[in-house]
Amino acid sequence: MKRASMSVDGRTRCFAVFGHPIGHTFSPMIHELFIRECGENLAYLAFDVTPENLEDALRGAWAMGFRGLNLTIPLKERVIPYLTGIDPLARKVGAVNTLKRTEEGFYGYNTDVYGMQSQLRTNGIHLQGQDVVILGAGGAAKSALCVCQMEGAESVSVYNRTYERATELVRRFEEACRGEETPRMRAVSLEELLSMPHPYVIQTTPAGMLSVSDRLPIREESFYEDIRYAADVVFNPKDTPFLSLVRSHGGKGADGLSMLYYQALKAFEIWRETAFSKEQALRMKEEFLSWAEDFFHE
Ligand code: NAP
Repeated sequence: MKRASMSVDGRTRCFAVFGHPIGHTFSPMIHELFIRECGENLAYLAFDVTPENLEDALRGAWAMGFRGLNLTIPLKERVIPYLTGIDPLARKVGAVNTLKRTEEGFYGYNTDVYGMQSQLRTNGIHLQGQDVVILGAGGAAKSALCVCQMEGAESVSVYNRTYERATELVRRFEEACRGEETPRMRAVSLEELLSMPHPYVIQTTPAGMLSVSDRLPIREESFYEDIRYAADVVFNPKDTPFLSLVRSHGGKGADGLSMLYYQALKAFEIWRETAFSKEQALRMKEEFLSWAEDFFHE
């Protein structure tokens, strides 16, 4: 994908992503595709915003007329107190990655759940009635738990290197889902994880990211032999060491780039209050994936 030269004038409606650090974000490239496709006078920027500056940055963006924002690490939870309201799904997950301008301020949504759901479905991974393992217990794991519930998984076992955080994640999610049907959920130790069947795994730790020294979330190679279907949230690189090991043992793996694409698509559709056609969405996805492929090989 060639970067289009952005044309901006006094009528341009602005969007942005806030995060810290932000230098490696792919969001402007994805949104540039959407902007080009819809042909409207829109612009999407990226800003390095620390948690300490978040409140001021939100006030400033609203005062300057920004129509929508995305939030990434480490702002998805910290933004909640500054919003005029929050969508029920985002409330359940406890994390907000998309803001839409209203008369009173910004309203929060979570599109990571949609992104992961689409990542799984478009790769032929169906969780209904399945026993699923989630690796990690941070923000992305919250989305994964929600996806497991929405997809009708039978049970979810959460493994995290800090066991207490996995226990807390499960407890909070159960509390957020009171009165709803949920999968059976529990935290598991490494020993339990290695000895139980685990055909479906959602990998939500940063292990395997280019900037992270740990290449794998689980070092024991035997763990990978049992995995039939896996999704990784890490998207940089596309083919993570985790996915490579899953595939080398005959399993199917869905990469984090498609989750990234679909969460962005949903955010853009929330802002414009209109959806692209299936054909448009697929065509732009292919274009993004091919841009990313070139990026990783540069
Ligand atoms: P987070 O809230 O900081 O949580 C990270 C979790 O991973 C924690 O449970 C942590 O364990 C565990 N962890 C960290 N480093 C580890 C390592 N080296 N080995 C094993 N476990 C490790 O982070 P997050 O917001 O969930 O983000 C996690 C990853 O998801 C990031 O790489 C992020 O870029 C990616 N992500 C991708 C998308 C997408 O669209 N593809 C969307 C959201 C997030 P402790 O509790 O022990 O610290």
